[in-house]
Amino acid sequence: MTAVVIDGKAFAAGVRARVAAHVARLSEEHGVQPGLAVVLVGEDPASQVYVRNKGVQTVEAGMTSFEHKLTADTSEADLLALVRALNADPKVHGILVQLPLPGHVNADLVINTIDPAKDVDGFHISNVGLLGTGQKAMVPCTPLGCLMMLRAYHGSLAGMTAVVVGRSNIVGKPMAQLLLGDSCTVTIAHSRTRDLASVCRGADILVAAVGRPEMITGDMVKPGATVIDVGINRVERDGKSRLVGDVDFASVSAVAGAITPVPGGVGPMTIACLLANTLTACCRAHGLPEPEGLTA
Ligand code: NAP
Repeated sequence: MTAVVIDGKAFAAGVRARVAAHVARLSEEHGVQPGLAVVLVGEDPASQVYVRNKGVQTVEAGMTSFEHKLTADTSEADLLALVRALNADPKVHGILVQLPLPGHVNADLVINTIDPAKDVDGFHISNVGLLGTGQKAMVPCTPLGCLMMLRAYHGSLAGMTAVVVGRSNIVGKPMAQLLLGDSCTVTIAHSRTRDLASVCRGADILVAAVGRPEMITGDMVKPGATVIDVGINRVERDGKSRLVGDVDFASVSAVAGAITPVPGGVGPMTIACLLANTLTACCRAHGLPEPEGLTA
């Protein structure tokens, strides 16, 4: 079998276009413009690239982008004061504090100081609890993007067996909650899982969020399964630096029914979902109807 390649780049462009169309209507009909504030502390090069891309795509979608770049020695008190000011600012509908934060700052405290209604990353404990109890929440962007692609490819996911490899708070756990919410039978695997290969081979839907280059190989995949590769790993190959996923694309695409590539799979969906979440937060803040198909 040769797997269908799920084109996340094209899918994300479609999501961004739907967000932009809804933003234009909001502005025309209600005089409202969604605003996203991104806070970056320090000079981590990868974070700087993410923040720049987020700013550009926010403006392209017709929203206002507020960027707050703070030095690495910013005190926790000053960062908390900025978050509280953004909470109180009616022009700001979404707040994202770029992780990781410097070691002297308590990241949990900062995240839990964000107004849950503006927590477009979906990491606040209130949103984690709302998602876990099946209530309306702000949903973490990367797993939301995976869910959107799975729904688009399969229609209903009800009754499917799903295995999520990885149990982080930002990907693995919320991914499992979302799949459970769509009535999959869900297993979460991690570094202590026994016989990972046979657990994975039971999956109709296999989501890899591990951070280990190409560790999921073809012999670990059920023929015809849908494989979502969340991993982004930089490796040196033939003297060149390349991005690879957690899935060995060559061997898995020969067995799976569908697969997301790296790059061009889950990655582009994350920022698209951040824009979707900002729009959703804005609609909720103004008591306006939410866009369809852009939330869980
Ligand atoms: P993380 O916090 O490091 O979590 C990794 C998880 O993988 C942990 O639960 C760990 O298990 C598990 N794991 C590690 N080695 C394993 C093994 N040999 N067998 C089974 N499970 C194993 O990583 P993360 O933040 O979830 O990110 C995962 C990957 O996704 C990374 O490559 C990251 O760059 C990528 N990512 C991509 C996007 C995107 O936009 N596409 C967004 C976020 C993350 P334990 O809990 O037992 O240690």
